[in-house]
Amino acid sequence: MLDVEKIRKDFPILEKGVTYLDSAASSLTPDQVVYKELEYYHNYRANIERGVHRWSQEASVEYEKAHDDVARFINASGPENLAMLRNTTEAINLVANSFDWKKDDSIVTTIIEHHSNFITWLRVGQRFGCKVTAARCTSEGYIDLADFEKLIDDRTRLVAVTGVSNVLGVIMPVKEIVKIAHDHGALVLVDGAQQVPHIKTDVKDMMVDYLAFSGHKMLGPTGSGGLYIKDEHIYDTEPLCIGGGTIADVSVDSYKLADSPMRFEAGTPAIAQVIGLGEACRYLDHIGMDNISHWDHVLAEKLIEGLAEIKDVEIYGPLDPKSRVGLASFNIKGMNPHDVALTLDQEYAIAVRSGHHCTLPLMKEIFKIHEGNVRASTYLYNTKDEIEKLLGAVEDLAKS
Ligand code: PMP
Repeated sequence: MLDVEKIRKDFPILEKGVTYLDSAASSLTPDQVVYKELEYYHNYRANIERGVHRWSQEASVEYEKAHDDVARFINASGPENLAMLRNTTEAINLVANSFDWKKDDSIVTTIIEHHSNFITWLRVGQRFGCKVTAARCTSEGYIDLADFEKLIDDRTRLVAVTGVSNVLGVIMPVKEIVKIAHDHGALVLVDGAQQVPHIKTDVKDMMVDYLAFSGHKMLGPTGSGGLYIKDEHIYDTEPLCIGGGTIADVSVDSYKLADSPMRFEAGTPAIAQVIGLGEACRYLDHIGMDNISHWDHVLAEKLIEGLAEIKDVEIYGPLDPKSRVGLASFNIKGMNPHDVALTLDQEYAIAVRSGHHCTLPLMKEIFKIHEGNVRASTYLYNTKDEIEKLLGAVEDLAKS
């Protein structure tokens, strides 16, 4: 069980009196992570892997240790499976740009995806003539696996799905999807932006080929994220950028790339951020991902039940809190979602997100709401009282 009051002490920003319910956009950062970044700047601020001097050595050791810690966090075999990149978007783009796509290839995704895991594939379709198909979902965000399977055929090279929807909070049946895809010889990329921060993630158990995730949504610094690559694809996956830091040898007319993960991390990387993300993983591990998921369900239940009782509030996504992480999207009848979010901020000091949440196909096709909705998302530092505060404010607005 979580000790939320103890956890909140690690986030002094919470003392500012804002009820922060926008962690799905970016989480807050505990002092442990901030201090770890500061430690780099105060004690061994130097470039990595290139210097024999002590600071460069120390920075390199910490940078490599962070790879080990993040790899362990998602149960990857080792750091060679993990390219540290800026965010989920960059990780997905790396994979999209790495394949030698052919006209006959097809890519299957879903309508629930964030634009980062959607337009990336549309672009592949436009550039190389591949077929891109998106499975539909119900209004609760469930996809019919039998229908999904019909979209996959022997031309399908990649299935790209999210682990958790950033709008509906719904947890996707990733293992079943991986099985279907692999049965047809297709690889699977999972967008883990909303999954990895909330659900204990085991890439071996998922049997996924690629997993993209963002450090800034899991207590890490902005500018940190990663791409997990399964063993057998490491050396078939073309880096997005090459240059300094990515080579084993260079001659006047040829080059040989370094081993992984160096080959994927061109130029001077986000050293402090990567070191900070390693610390974030240690922090989350210390609290326990199962405890975090449990708290998610407690808050989600309170959120959904409370919103459902308010007249004129429409909720999007599954009503069963067990099917979702701590996240709820809603609209108040007759009110623009941006006005709701602005009023919540200005009059109640509650920070939520409003708009289409980078999921326009879902908004247009499934919900027919072009202006989007309001999203309240929680994390391990949120309390039941904060949910009550939000519910009270939404009730006020719905009555007004
Ligand atoms: N996928 C999902 C499901 C997301 O929620 C987000 C962030 N909103 C992204 C991808 C993109 O993440 P980032 O901006 O960190 O690249």
